[in-house]
Amino acid sequence: MTPGSNSLIWFRKGLRIHDNPALEYAAKTSTHVYPLFVIDPHYMKPDPTAFSPGSKLAGLNRIRFLLESLLDLDSNLKKLGSRLLVLHGEPGEVLIRCLKEWDIKRLCFEYDTDPYYQSLDAKVKEWVAKFEKPNTDPSAFLKPATTMLSPYLKFGCLSSRYFYQCIKEIEKEFKNHTSPPVSLLGQLYWRDFFYTVGFGTPNFDCMRGNKICRQIPWNNDDELLAAWRDARTGFPWIDAIMVQLRKWGWIHHLARHSVACFLTRGDLFIHWEKGRDVFERLLVDSDWAINNGNWLWLSCSSFFYQYHRIYSPISFGKKYDPSGAYIRHFLPVLKDMPKEYIYEPWTAPLSIQKKANCIIGKDYPKPVISHETASKECKGKMAAAYELNKKQNGKVSDEDLQNLR
Ligand code: FAD
Repeated sequence: MTPGSNSLIWFRKGLRIHDNPALEYAAKTSTHVYPLFVIDPHYMKPDPTAFSPGSKLAGLNRIRFLLESLLDLDSNLKKLGSRLLVLHGEPGEVLIRCLKEWDIKRLCFEYDTDPYYQSLDAKVKEWVAKFEKPNTDPSAFLKPATTMLSPYLKFGCLSSRYFYQCIKEIEKEFKNHTSPPVSLLGQLYWRDFFYTVGFGTPNFDCMRGNKICRQIPWNNDDELLAAWRDARTGFPWIDAIMVQLRKWGWIHHLARHSVACFLTRGDLFIHWEKGRDVFERLLVDSDWAINNGNWLWLSCSSFFYQYHRIYSPISFGKKYDPSGAYIRHFLPVLKDMPKEYIYEPWTAPLSIQKKANCIIGKDYPKPVISHETASKECKGKMAAAYELNKKQNGKVSDEDLQNLR
């Protein structure tokens, strides 16, 4: 850690400025130190059946003593030219927010032997040890199901080597931790995999001249491309993801799968390079090797070849989020659509559309294609392109591609 960076000192029990190794360490290694105490709702939860004033876990006297200690700590910090920041909320969530908003590079706190704090630490470690990427939920947006560290890894704010070592440490503690490719460590291996193959493959970011890329006669349809990009396909699952991408600059891995498959080999049959460009511009974590590698993968142009396995823009999201909470959040125009129709609003009777204040074709678009027909056509075109690539050993001319269209 370089001097000049921001540190956060999280006061838990050591509410003092003397003999406080965590505070001393933070002060020595950084230019700015943010002193923080988090009031944990778990500690302050009221108990209507309590026999004396206070919360469920703490009587009034202890709460008063704690508040006085915080005032005392604040006045001692003031003498040092600082102040104590007191925030309320679940400590893990509050800390993550502060780390992001205040650009904190180092979090300092004293080791706590209390079972409650030990279990908070253990929760994080068990989450890492049990991480299985395919079982994470792409529709989870209030509490995302994966680390959301990709922007920090992309810009190098977090060292991938350091992250790797931290995961290894946790794995040592758990016999039954998950394994690559689905574990958290596995995700880092994918990252390195795409960096390696991207570096060693000329024209990795194009179809033409890229010898690991299948040559496929993609359609050129600017209207369909714009409908996908601007969240107007008429498929709420796809459109909600594209709104999240535009608003947040981040979407879950399987959400990326859904929209990339839909744009390319699943439904619209549009060139993966066009989708790659949209992702490149909008993703906070946009990374040349990883983005191109995954678009090659999802379009079945390289690495993955099971083009008959297509993500349904209707049933895939429903599996995770049957009530459509994710869609309602990102597409408020559909917020009152009954859950039976939320993934296929065009099938709702007009009376229901009126009641939901959302007329399909007026307030929200009709589907730009029929998924059933389009996906069948895509499979046929992929089969023909694969056959040609095989026959001509990958040497496919522009004319050959034209003939396949
Ligand atoms: P976690 O699951 O918590 O994984 C931890 C880290 O491992 C990630 O931050 C990332 O650095 C790495 N990682 C995870 N999955 C992959 C993967 N499939 N390939 C390579 N590295 C991975 N990721 C980017 O960082 N930048 C991109 O531009 C990008 N473009 C993508 C485009 C498409 C079409 C698809 C399908 C995936 C893309 N990904 C990209 C990979 C992946 O979706 C994100 O890394 C992941 O969703 C980020 O969330 P997270 O940090 O919570 O991931």
